[in-house]
Amino acid sequence: MSETIERIKCLIIGSGPAGYTAAIYASRADLKPIMYTGMEPGGQLTTTTEVDNFPGYPEGIDGPAMMMDLQKQAERFGTEVRMGMVTEVEFSKEAGGIHKACIDNSKWVEAETVIISTGATAKYLGLPSEQKLRGGGVSACAVCDGFFYKNQDVAIVGGGDTAAEEATYLANICKKVTMLVRKDEMRASKAMQHRVNNTKNLEVRYNTEVDEVIGDQVVDGLRMVNNKTGEKEEIAITGLFIAIGHKPNTDIFKGHLDMDETGYLITQGKSTKTNIPGVFASGDVQDKEYRQAITAAGTGCMAAMDAERYLAEIETSEEEQKEVTA
Ligand code: NDP
Repeated sequence: MSETIERIKCLIIGSGPAGYTAAIYASRADLKPIMYTGMEPGGQLTTTTEVDNFPGYPEGIDGPAMMMDLQKQAERFGTEVRMGMVTEVEFSKEAGGIHKACIDNSKWVEAETVIISTGATAKYLGLPSEQKLRGGGVSACAVCDGFFYKNQDVAIVGGGDTAAEEATYLANICKKVTMLVRKDEMRASKAMQHRVNNTKNLEVRYNTEVDEVIGDQVVDGLRMVNNKTGEKEEIAITGLFIAIGHKPNTDIFKGHLDMDETGYLITQGKSTKTNIPGVFASGDVQDKEYRQAITAAGTGCMAAMDAERYLAEIETSEEEQKEVTA
């Protein structure tokens, strides 16, 4: 049997840059937030090595170290960070209603506001050689890691807008980019395809998939296979970028919150408001376009401010109600 353990003002679900930034702002606004970290404390950045593009770190910083700094900063203002997964939610549809979240299938927390920052997970091909070399030349983020392959030969997998955008981004930095598209056409928009086709040092291989990533500690090459002819070919590369899509971590919110057809939470206008009063979404869970630590952090700040304003409005309307009935 589960039991209600506590009533809090602000529950933060997820511990990436969005969650921690929300926590810093919410705790400084005295919302006494409690954060549940999820299965991967620190989020996607803990799986990368160096972060070079987060403002304020002139020499760059290791992803895990940056997340520890963010945690310390949030805790300094009173955020309570707890290990645990939110496994079920019950959201009130009423303004001022109390939301419930079940932790690790065992205990329930009641919260006046909820900030969801559960992120998204990059999809990988699932090949053993790819998994072995993650962090050793295999990356799912060209904007984060492309710089490390300056003037080198790299490859990218995928035929959607992300792959097309990242391929042209890499072509600006790297010597040569080989783009592997598994069908005989790209899914990316015509405009993006046009950009790809007009980039000189970018070669598109259609009907082509990864057979094996070659390398022991780091990537040395790639064996490609033509899925029509079965013909295999090896090329020398130092970096392999996987751009075959992301999966937002929203399974537990299905049926509770509005999402788009791919599962990303929908927020209203420029705010972080979901369709449920008092429930806000920040970071990659509601952003399939930018997906950067700094943009996630920005929306985390917005979510805490939206939560604070929401609570202030509820308080004001409750006071007005009391005056009317007095
Ligand atoms: P998509 O799902 O649109 O595309 C994924 C691509 O990866 C497809 O080409 C798919 O191939 C390929 N793929 C999937 N699995 C494999 C596999 N196992 N092996 C090889 N290839 C594989 O994801 P995106 O991340 O590109 O885009 C997500 C959404 O975000 C889209 O709606 C997109 O339009 C949007 N977006 C918009 C941007 C912009 O407007 N600037 C920038 C980035 C994204 P196949 O086609 O054969 O299924």
